[in-house]
Amino acid sequence: WRRALLAVPSVVMLVLVWTNGLHGLFYGDATALGPPIAGLPRLRYDYGPLFHVAVALGYLWTLAAATLVLRGWLGSRGTQRRHWGAMALMMAVPLAANAAYLGWGLRLMGADPTSTGFAVALVGFAWLMQRDGLFAVVPLARRLLFDELPDPVIVLDAAGRLAEVNPAAAALGGPPLPDRPLADWSPLGPALAQHLAAGAGGELALGEPARLYEVQRRELGSHGQSIGALIQLHDVSARHQAHAEAVRSLSARQVELERATALQALLREQAMHDALTGLLNRRALQEQHSQEQLARRSSDAAATPPLALVLMDLDHFKRINDTHGHAAGDAVLRDFAVALRSGLRSGDTLARIGGEEFALLMPGATADQATRRVQGLRDIVARWDLGSLGEAVTFSAGVAVAAPGRESLEALLDAADRALYQAKRAGRDRTVVAD
Ligand code: GH3
Ligand code: MG
Ligand code: MG
Repeated sequence: WRRALLAVPSVVMLVLVWTNGLHGLFYGDATALGPPIAGLPRLRYDYGPLFHVAVALGYLWTLAAATLVLRGWLGSRGTQRRHWGAMALMMAVPLAANAAYLGWGLRLMGADPTSTGFAVALVGFAWLMQRDGLFAVVPLARRLLFDELPDPVIVLDAAGRLAEVNPAAAALGGPPLPDRPLADWSPLGPALAQHLAAGAGGELALGEPARLYEVQRRELGSHGQSIGALIQLHDVSARHQAHAEAVRSLSARQVELERATALQALLREQAMHDALTGLLNRRALQEQHSQEQLARRSSDAAATPPLALVLMDLDHFKRINDTHGHAAGDAVLRDFAVALRSGLRSGDTLARIGGEEFALLMPGATADQATRRVQGLRDIVARWDLGSLGEAVTFSAGVAVAAPGRESLEALLDAADRALYQAKRAGRDRTVVAD
């Protein structure tokens, strides 16, 4: 409705001009033939009041249009600005002609030159539209894309000389040198020319600080005939950085994982061993016994292999501590562990389960076999000078074998402990088998 409102004064004016014969407000009655110019007849107008209103309206419109064009020119860039500029220039021709006519009475062949100015402007417009694609939207859009593209783009002619670069390329490589070989365009040109000559494709570090660009070259032309090339650089630094970042954090996590795994293994090792003697501890013995039980249960019920547990306790150990000191007592415990170990067989599990109490799990051993094995250990210990005390250290032992109802480690330890107690009571330095 605004556009319609804008049209109203013009339409009213037109109607008034057409009906001038009825009211004579546009051209008065005195309008008549004047003296001819160059032999052509000529009207002498008697301008009525409406004529002046119409003229004022006309100038108002022209002023508004000129303001719009100037605003377009000021607010645009590149090709679009050139187009707006051309339009302003063309508009200026009839306006200047009119001003000259009104101000200085300029005449063209005796007449107002304004209309000739309009004709010249129209020819100019036609020419600009034809030659320059004035206000044609597609070339304008392409141009805009080329200018606004954040990727540097370089156009080379068939001889490899710079034909055109977009602003992004100019920002990277400096003002272009028209019609000069790419390699002359320092600092970007030489590196780029070398990269292209190597046929590398791929990526190239350019600029200061350096960024990584993916370089793409496309031949221009058809039917195998090259008229030049289009080179596009695509900034891939961010992508590379993200990738490197990911690799870094991944390897950092890998290191952390390895550290955690090693720590876990160490903790597990510590959790299963006795710190003083390095032997397994009670928890490890429990695990070993559980595995043994599993193996025994899966075997044929009629031929379940025997299993013996021996509990060994050093005799009068308190006395050693009291006489030689706690450190000497520790040395005796360590040496006792080494001595027992030297007499072990594969399958045996030796653990320190208390202060000076040691347990030996012997899969496959009967009570007799276990007793003989303990005697062997006793002989070894007798030959050793435990803790370099220069005195004999003996131990008592209780043997228990697995039987129905006496298979758990607790039950075996309990039975062995009772046998051990009997050995102590009977004078120490001996082995008793639990009934
Ligand atoms: P028995 O022949 O009846 O076994 O007499 P014992 O003195 O060996 O028995 P008792 O249980 O009375 O004493 C055990 C002693 O072992 C008491 C404790 O001070 C000592 N002991 C326990 N653990 C350690 C240890 O790690 N290092 C040292 N040096 N002594 C320990
Ligand atoms: Mg004891
Ligand atoms: Mg003891």
